Amino acid sequence: MLRRPPRRQAVTVMREMGMINLSNPTVIPHHDETLSSWLMRWAGDRHTHRSDLLGMVANVQIELADALKSEPDFPSAPGWARSLATVIGMDADDLDRIAWPPSPWVLAPDARCSACVECLGEDGDITAQYMRQLWTDSWRTLCLRHDLPLVQVPAFGWGWGLVGNEVRRAHKTLMRRPYTLVKNLRSAWEATPSVLKEAVYGAEMSLLEAFGEHYTHAGKDGHAASGRLRVWEDLLVVCTTNWQPWSDELPISAAVPTLSAGRRFFRGLRAPPFEGDHNLIRFRSLEDPSIRRMALACVADALQNMASRPTAEPLMKGKARKIWQDVATVLPPNAWDWLSLRAEQWPTTWRHWVLDWRRAALVSSKKVQ
Ligand SMILES: [Zn+2]
Repeated sequence: MLRRPPRRQAVTVMREMGMINLSNPTVIPHHDETLSSWLMRWAGDRHTHRSDLLGMVANVQIELADALKSEPDFPSAPGWARSLATVIGMDADDLDRIAWPPSPWVLAPDARCSACVECLGEDGDITAQYMRQLWTDSWRTLCLRHDLPLVQVPAFGWGWGLVGNEVRRAHKTLMRRPYTLVKNLRSAWEATPSVLKEAVYGAEMSLLEAFGEHYTHAGKDGHAASGRLRVWEDLLVVCTTNWQPWSDELPISAAVPTLSAGRRFFRGLRAPPFEGDHNLIRFRSLEDPSIRRMALACVADALQNMASRPTAEPLMKGKARKIWQDVATVLPPNAWDWLSLRAEQWPTTWRHWVLDWRRAALVSSKKVQ
């Protein structure tokens, strides 16, 4: 939760951010900006803290203030746009448009901290930096405009003034001079094996198509006939869930050695076991885009081999092991049981792959031993 910074820190922040342009008090949302990002700029431009803005909102509709706290970008409380419009003097229809999620798989609110350094660099002054709507999608980990991987950032725009001193020191260059990092990041990304990059591009493309199909051809059960989205969802859950209560390592971590050439952009993760049902919220709560990128590459690898077997080449050509195989080999029986159960809802042509993967993983794990 955001807190008001101590007065001394606030003064430092104001100095860092430069003079506020009082001659232009109206902050217009960018066409691709999220609601929380714009409200933060709106409040900052008026020397108002976001919590004061929420207080004003609560005076009009208390439920809306609560809704904005728990879902700051895509609120769904009835009548929220009309109430907020009266506070900030903006058209309710425009607010509705800003708060439309880019896809059903948006990141959990606390995990919305992915950004493209080149986009941020183009924004100019730190107070002008803003969060793009596409960066809130859990399955997008690239900036297609600049052909760069997204990175994790501690804050956007005025939010920088609310982070702790330690974080500010650690990420000073990233936030205040992001353009200076572009060259290094670009050359490291260009040096990453193309099969890995293509796996991620392919994953994003495949999901984009799956969402398109989902919206236009979804049946009564809410799923399109091909079931692609369901298969993607289940495999992403498998890769990013702690299946053993004593282990803090996610299955995708098993593929990290295979991906050593691109380790900077493909990372595994240690995370405490996730309480609750196994579903996509785990993937959607991963803050670091390099971990989600890793899971996407892993599922793309599984599905690539599924689509073109038996002649398919492993995604990591020339390597003894490949990404999905690495992960499948470490999956414990309860993960396979869960996946088998889920696969009963998959299209029949795809269903048998779970059994095949499980058999192959068993053989592979015996070889490893
Ligand atoms: Zn960009």
